Order: sequence, then structure tokens, then C-alpha cells
Amino acid sequence: MAYKNITMPESGDKIRIENDQLVISDQPILGYIEGDGIGKDITDASLRIWDAAVEKAYGGKRKVHWAEIFLGEKAAGIYDGDYFPDESLEAIKELIVSIKGPLTTPVGGGFRSLNVSLRQTLDLYACVRPVRYFEGVPSPMKRPEEVDIVLFRENTEDVYSGLEYEAGSPENEKLAKFLREEMGAKFFEGAGLGVKPISEFGSKRLVRKAIEFAIDNNRESVTLVHKGNIMKFTEGAFRKWGYEVAAEEYAEQTISEDEVWAKHDGKVPAGKILIKDRIADITFQLLQLRPAEFDVLATTNLNGDYISDAAAAEVGGMGIAPGANMADHIAVFEATHGTAPKYTNLNKVNPSSLMFSGVMMFDYIGWPEVGKIIDAAFQQAISEKIVTYDFARLMEGANKVTTSGFADALIERMKSQ
Ligand code: NAP
Repeated sequence: MAYKNITMPESGDKIRIENDQLVISDQPILGYIEGDGIGKDITDASLRIWDAAVEKAYGGKRKVHWAEIFLGEKAAGIYDGDYFPDESLEAIKELIVSIKGPLTTPVGGGFRSLNVSLRQTLDLYACVRPVRYFEGVPSPMKRPEEVDIVLFRENTEDVYSGLEYEAGSPENEKLAKFLREEMGAKFFEGAGLGVKPISEFGSKRLVRKAIEFAIDNNRESVTLVHKGNIMKFTEGAFRKWGYEVAAEEYAEQTISEDEVWAKHDGKVPAGKILIKDRIADITFQLLQLRPAEFDVLATTNLNGDYISDAAAAEVGGMGIAPGANMADHIAVFEATHGTAPKYTNLNKVNPSSLMFSGVMMFDYIGWPEVGKIIDAAFQQAISEKIVTYDFARLMEGANKVTTSGFADALIERMKSQ
């Protein structure tokens, strides 16, 4: 399509879908969105790191052709106050694979979260967040090397659906009246009300994606995390549907924990992926005390939001945690932290969250060599204690560098690998 403000690169090929598969040339066009606040600093640094790693991996045979797409404050400046331009959504759909920095969301009023709108408009139903440890990264854990999980968080339902009715509004009064008079519900006068939809369709497609990831990546288990002891028909139903999808569609590859105990004396048969479930509160505790018991996790939206940040804290915090929002084909990779507005344009923060989201993106398009090069350069820089301020304050004898300085350090190390 013809865009008003987005300039597609003159060379490069758009990714296509054929027979339900992505078709990606050696010269793909990928989209990037800078984001607000620290977005520009981390995007500039990450683009340089990704390009250098691609060059190192393929010596010019493969190259990314980047197309800038606008959302958030930068979009508002270009599109006359529109933070969420239609043509940006069109470009994300057309390019299929893109990566974004953080976007500002006002709390308790103003416009709705652009991130939530993006996930819902494009039906990016799985938020995928790997959490793994790099030796030398400051961690509060005794054995941080045991943390190696990939969290699949349902991204479109739950209390994030936007079905909220402010106390005192006519909609709230109407709903409160219905709930009290027709459903016999009891709650305090003047309560704000929200609805928590969890569907079979939404739960099953999320758990399906988690199981397929586990199969493709030789993972040992998928844990369904829920609060079904209290919210039986939403969180409890998520658990039930999760087990159903495993039993109905992946009976060959998976086995439930109940069956392991009933038929195999507690030992998972070779080649089978264990499907188990844990209540959300105990999961938080176990992730700190016995993280090795977790591998792939699949959970509802709010649980996933909390768990992914808590897990990231175990291996270096938000400055390093990557993520992706995925539909069946369209994927928007993103830094999991926010815009950290106090650090805007200070060239100070850690670009690694966005950079590692890029590693996920290169794995997704079938270029895993890029991630290996970035991982090795990162590991080397960390072992030399070359770090941004967030790690420097937790390390003895750190060599503190800026955002762009960190990118320089990684690129230099790639060259000497
Ligand atoms: P935040 O922007 O993530 O920042 C919280 C703190 O995390 C920062 O003050 C900083 O800690 C640390 N941090 C974040 N990014 C870092 C990085 N790259 N390197 C090192 N440290 C980093 O969270 P917030 O202040 O709660 O949210 C600010 C805005 O971002 C809000 O409008 C929120 O809605 C939005 N947000 C957007 C997304 C998204 O776009 N996906 C996600 C979350 C929040 P220190 O102060 O200790 O240095």
C-alpha cells in the first residue's frame, strides 16, 4: 500500500506467508518503532548491534532493510496528534515482523495503553518472554544459573480487556444494578467494576503455542500457572482447557503430571513433555526457591505480567529482559521495560532488553547465528565488567559505559570473536 509518512526501503523484500509458513529472503524488510522516552537511545544502539552481528554472521550475504514505523509521541508529532496511526498498524501487518521500543501510557486516565491496543488490534495473543542467566550479571539469587524459563502470557483477555466501569458512571450503575438484582451479587456501594473474560478459544491457542514451542525446542515441561482455586470459572477454566489441549492435540508428545504419578511412579517417560499446573502465588515462591523446576510456563494475562517482571529481576532486571507479542504469523518484538522517562536522551540506560528481543526476532526469522554472535559478545563484555549504570551499581569494579558505549563495546568484541 502507499504510505503517507512511512518510507519503505528501496531495496529488500517483504516477508510473505505461503502455505501457512513465513517466506523470508536473504534481504528482508523488517519494521522498527523507536518508542518514547529512552526508546531512541536503545533503538539506535540496538540497530547498530544487530546490523554488525548480521554482517559478522553472513559476511554480506544477508542484510536487514529497516523500515521505520511510527507509534506514540513520535507518531503524534508526525500525524497531527495521532498516537496510533492507522497506517502504522497497516505497515506492521504488511511487514509481518517488527520490533518496538517502549510506549508511554498515562496511569488512571488519559488515553488507553498503546501497547494493549496494539496487542488487541493485531490480535497478538501470545506475549513470549524468555528469562535466562548470563554469567557475571548481578543477581540476588544463590543459583541464578538455574533460571531458564520461557513464559507464554495470554495477551488479549483477562482484566486487560478494557471492560472497566468507573464508580459513579451510568454504565457502572447499570451493571451494579444488574449484578445485584438479577445475579444476587453483593459488593460495596460505589465500587469500581471490571470484567475478567477468559475463553476456551483464547486459552487453548495460547497453551497450544507454548506446547509447540516446547516441542520445537526440546523443552522438558509446560507449567500452567493460574489462580483457579479462587477464580474457578476464569483461571480454573484456563487450567482445564490447558490440560485439554495437551491431551486432545499433543497426546503423543506430552504427559500430564497426574498420569506420571498414576502410571510411571513419578518419572516422566523419555521423550515426553510434562504438563503440570501450579497456583500463581506458589509459583512466585518456587521461582525463587527452586527455579530449576520450571521450563516453559503458560499463563493468563495479569499473572504473566507480574511473573515475567519478577523472574527478570532474578537475572539482572528489566534492563535485560526481552519479549515478543505474537499472533500466528505477525510478531512484534519489544523491550519489556517502559519508557523510563527520567533517562530520556541521556544515553545512559541498558539497551539489552531491546537487543535481546532482536535476538528472539532473528531466531524467529530463522537466522539463529545472529543471536549466537550477540550472546557471545554480551557474555564477553559482562565478564570484562563493561556495563551500563544499572549493572554498574550492583557490581564491584565495574567499567561503566553509556548506551552507545555499550553498543560500541559489543561490536568491537564481535569483530575479535
Ligand atoms: P519503566 O519505564 O520500565 O522504568 C522503571 C525503572 O526500571 C527505571 O526507572 C529504571 O530503574 C529501570 N529501567 C527501565 N528500563 C531500563 C533500561 N533500559 N536500563 C536500565 N534500567 C531500566 O517503568 P515505569 O516508570 O513504571 O513506566 C514508565 C512508562 O512506561 C509508563 O508510561 C508505562 O506505562 C510505560 N510502560 C511501557 C511499556 C511498554 O511499552 N511495553 C512497558 C512498561 C511500562 P532505576 O530508576 O532504578 O534506574
